[in-house]
Formats: sequence, structure tokens, C-alpha cells
Amino acid sequence: MSAQSYTAATSVDEALEAMATGARPIAGGTDLVVGARGGKAPLPDALVAIHRVSELRGIREQEGGLVLGALATHADIVASSSACELFTALADASAIVGSHATRTAGTIGGNVMNASPAMETGGPLICFDAVATLRSASGTRRVALTDLFTGPGRTVAEPGELLTELAIPTPKDGTGSCYARLEYRRQMEIAIVGATAVVTLDGGTVRDARIAITALAPTIHRVAEAEQALNGSDASDAAVHAAADAAAGASRPISDVRGSAQYRRAMAAVLTRRAISTAITRARGGRFPIPASPALHGAVNGGAA
Ligand SMILES: Cc1cc2nc3c(=O)[nH]c(=O)nc-3n(C[C@H](O)[C@H](O)[C@H](O)COP(=O)(O)OP(=O)(O)OC[C@H]3O[C@@H](n4cnc5c(N)ncnc54)[C@H](O)[C@@H]3O)c2cc1C
Repeated sequence: MSAQSYTAATSVDEALEAMATGARPIAGGTDLVVGARGGKAPLPDALVAIHRVSELRGIREQEGGLVLGALATHADIVASSSACELFTALADASAIVGSHATRTAGTIGGNVMNASPAMETGGPLICFDAVATLRSASGTRRVALTDLFTGPGRTVAEPGELLTELAIPTPKDGTGSCYARLEYRRQMEIAIVGATAVVTLDGGTVRDARIAITALAPTIHRVAEAEQALNGSDASDAAVHAAADAAAGASRPISDVRGSAQYRRAMAAVLTRRAISTAITRARGGRFPIPASPALHGAVNGGAA
């Protein structure tokens, strides 16, 4: 599985130089190397390691939002009080990636650029209006996450483009959010079905609802019909159920060893309902543990879905 050439960049410019001649970036390697070892895809001929590029590290607050360096790990996100308080659905997502070791090595940049339709952070980033900065030897451009994914494992990024950071605007006051996934075990799992809800309340009324579904279509995407069912409502159980049913109706799941399309569609309604209800609880100031998913298992077993 060995690559024919490997360099380790110490700056973005060095990384871009290597990428201009065809090298693929490698950050934590938990998708690229683990996939190659497992026979999923061979390693690229040329690799440029970016884990020593300090410009790509860290999470910083800036006027109006948060900036995640491409090398911010899932563990960094969960440890960030800003991420947990303002972007709770993202913290829910990062907190359930793989195991402790996976979260320590795996980066947000790698998660996004690997572009799996089942990856955890895509739904939250899309619902929070995240914008990716892509740099290449010939310039810089910004792409909204909602426009980034084009299919399983594919993005609009050109081969020479490096994701350097993700900027996320601070949500309005009164916003609560949640990412919940269906999983058969609590560690070392990937979403069989996932749902994100970001809900802004004004008094008792839903002013803005963003709902995205994961592992239910070739790309993670928002569901306008589900959002419409909730927007302007009083956040009642009936409105939540209508939104969840709309999300399930918009899904186009596949059947595979992990679940049939029919089962996935049925679970889409359940998971979306849980994500919305938890987002509403959080928007009202109620406490709900991060990550939400394990706590929601109680809802499965207790039937209080
Ligand atoms: C045991 C295990 C469990 C896992 N569980 C989960 C899970 O529950 N949920 C989940 O979503 N994922 C899971 N993963 C997948 C993986 O850990 C995450 O997607 C992780 O965030 C990938 O980050 P990385 O830095 O390791 O990426 P890498 O493997 O280094 O890179 C992945 C891809 O992104 C590209 N890339 C990386 N950084 C950049 C950049 N800055 N700019 C442009 N391209 C870039 C690489 O070229 C490669 O194509 C799991 C993996 C393992 C091994």
C-alpha cells in the first residue's frame, strides 16, 4: 500500500507546491491510510503530510463567529467551550467519531474532504452555514459547505486545492441544535442514519429551522420541506412529527449490509424527530448531554421516541 513519494510540509505554501505537482494531502490519515490498509482504495502515488503545518491548527473566535483550522481534531472541537455552547450539534458529531484515538488524530478537514455521505460533521456544518476556504497555488476561494459535496467521496475542490479553514457564523440568540445518529454500537461506528436540527426560537415560535439528513442520500443535504413544516410553528409535537416525516420522505437511502433502504427511511423519521426535539430543548435553555446520541439510546429502549 506504500505511496511512491512522501513529503512533510511545514507551511501551507510548501503543501501547495507539492499538491501542484500531484501530491494528495494527508492529515490524520484515519480515512486515507486506514482505508488503504483495508483495501478500500490504494494510497495515492504521492503524498504530502500536512500535520506539521501550524497555520492550519486551532480553533479561534473571530468577530461574528468561529474559525476551525483544517487540522482541528474532533477532540479539539469537543474541548472547545465555544463549539459546545454555540455549535452544539457540531460537538455532538465530533464527540462520536470513532474512538478516543480516532478523535485525537482525525481532523475536521479530513472528515469534510473525505466527503462520505455518512460522515458526522457535514450536517451540522451545512446547517450552521459554514464556509470552507480552499487554497491552491493559483489562488483562494470560499465555498459554502452546502455547495461543497457533489457525491460520495467527491467535492467541488480541484486536485491542487487545500482546505485551510472553515468559518462558521454565530447563530442567533435563542438557537439550539442537535446531531443524532442511529448506531448499532456506541464506539467505532459510522452513521447508519443521521439527522441534524438547528432551531431558533422567538418566544414560543420557531423563527428558523434547519434540518439536514445524513447517510440517506448520495450527499448530506438540508430538507426544505422539513424546515417549512417547522418554521412559524409553535414547536409542538405535531409540528415536530410533520417535519420528521418530511425529512424521511425526502430521503433516498440505499440498502446495504448495515440496513435496508426501507429500514433507513423509517429510522430517518425517528432520528430527525429526536434531533429536532433535543434542539428545541436546548434552544429553551434546557441541558442535554453532549454527545446527544448515547443519551437518546434511552429513548429507543424506553420507547419515548
Ligand atoms: C476506526 C475508525 C472509526 C471512524 N469513525 C468515524 C465516525 O464515527 N464518523 C465519521 O464521520 N468518521 C469516522 N471515521 C473516519 C475518519 O476518522 C474521519 O473522517 C476523520 O475526521 C478524517 O480525518 P483525517 O485527518 O484522519 O483525514 P485523512 O485520512 O488524513 O484524509 C482524508 C481525506 O481528506 C483529504 N484531506 C485531508 N485534509 C485535507 C485538507 N486540509 N485539504 C484537502 N484535502 C484534505 C485527504 O487527501 C483524504 O482524501 C473513522 C475512522 C476510523 C479509522
